[in-house]
Amino acid sequence: MKAQSLLIGGQWVDAKGHEREDVTSPFNGDVVGNIALARPADAERAIDAAVVGFETWRRTPAHARFAILTKAAALADERAEDIAQIMSRENGKSILEARGEASRSGDIIRLSAFEGSQLYGDSLPLDANKGTGFDKIGFTIHQPVGVIVAISPFNYPALLVLHKIAPALAAGNAVVLKPARATPLTALAVAQCFVDAGLPDGVLNVVTGGGSDVGDALVRDRRVRKISFTGSTNVGEHIASIAGVKKLSLELGASGPVIVLDDADIDAATTSIALGGYINAGQVCISAQRIIVHEKIVDDFIASLTPKVEAIRVGDPFGDGITIGSMISRAEADRVTESIRAAISAGARLVTGGEQDGSVIQPAIVADVDPYSPFAQDELFGPAVAVSTARDIQHAIELANSTAYGLGAGVFTNNMSNTIRAIREIESGVVHINWTQLWRADLMPYGGFKSSGIGKEGPRSAIAEMTEIKTVIMHGTPWTNN
Ligand code: NAD
Repeated sequence: MKAQSLLIGGQWVDAKGHEREDVTSPFNGDVVGNIALARPADAERAIDAAVVGFETWRRTPAHARFAILTKAAALADERAEDIAQIMSRENGKSILEARGEASRSGDIIRLSAFEGSQLYGDSLPLDANKGTGFDKIGFTIHQPVGVIVAISPFNYPALLVLHKIAPALAAGNAVVLKPARATPLTALAVAQCFVDAGLPDGVLNVVTGGGSDVGDALVRDRRVRKISFTGSTNVGEHIASIAGVKKLSLELGASGPVIVLDDADIDAATTSIALGGYINAGQVCISAQRIIVHEKIVDDFIASLTPKVEAIRVGDPFGDGITIGSMISRAEADRVTESIRAAISAGARLVTGGEQDGSVIQPAIVADVDPYSPFAQDELFGPAVAVSTARDIQHAIELANSTAYGLGAGVFTNNMSNTIRAIREIESGVVHINWTQLWRADLMPYGGFKSSGIGKEGPRSAIAEMTEIKTVIMHGTPWTNN
């Protein structure tokens, strides 16, 4: 087991206070690593280094940034199996899921590198402005914002780190990354790819440890021009309240709805929901949490879904044929068990699953859920779906829109009018037709409405938000041609 340090100014350094902590497997408690615990003084050092790094990087041409990033992408491809092993051990997700996630790393970096080479501006038709002639030329250029603080959650420890740092670096920014306390080792392994690819010192810095320890120091600092945060709505609201005048991207929580109408292909819907409700033990912001089924087909729907959910193999993340590992901690598993119990005492019915063994929970279906109860309205972030019924499309959309959130939604129907109505009326950042919301192409715009956040990720969208537009007007004097 390797003791890991902070990455500041191109050096791997100890935290100023020399505090450290073990990283443990949520499945069996094995110690899988040991990290430095950063404090505000370390956050400040990391920002100091990023300010210096930015001065180099902003003057590095796009083709040179592209070359370094594509080298980092090749290293991420080469190291995908190592990254997956680290991820599965510290996060508890199955090695199958970890391999799937790690294998996307190189492509996210390449996509970002490409988009970072496409910072086109506009030319401005100034002569359309009353009184302005042809003696002026106006255009826009895109410039990096400067120092970006990236704060990431535990649930996709490589993917969500890369969706921040790769576009930020590709656009010419310097970054201070604060990965989730539970999953710092994956982030450090990913950062090492950029260091080994030749990223100049200080352009990428990583501080590990508790969010509440270093968060405020990172977020309040006036030298930071943008915060890119993915995590819970509570922490996102706190960040928004103290950030001051800087750009903010907040990718927050959700309670994702899936509508299944009476004209849907039930078998196709339940196949998709048996994935979308349970992947990563339901710890996904775009998990299919609330299943809103037309009342006419709800019995057939549950009969079709139940065997598919019962067939999911959960347990030891490295076990043969295990697709879903543990939750991130015993405490999180206890919280989910308690939520299921509370739903049942409020009148819901447990169809299957829900048994807890340490940090592992058997995938559950909870039916007859009051769509306005906490089990539906609050983010569950666990391996269970809440089935409720709707009378018709209008009622289904009303229920889909009834929570504070609006990140992803799924609709199963074979009717064109219902499809179009759902696309237009559902309040969420992404809508999927005939699949659940648990699907993402890394290139697509991705982000929520309402309490699910502000801004969009996906390399092209992220780069738009990680650059400033500068408007340039060149003033000549009027001329005559004779
Ligand atoms: P979390 O909010 O507890 O932590 C996220 C990050 O914020 C961590 O790095 C944590 O250390 C840091 N943090 C904690 N307190 C902080 C503070 N005061 N200041 C600054 N940083 C602080 O979230 P989590 O438990 O790691 O992840 C689960 C949550 O993330 C869920 O709500 C989920 O929906 C959300 N999420 C959203 C998306 C999305 O794209 N919308 C994607 C993944 C996860």
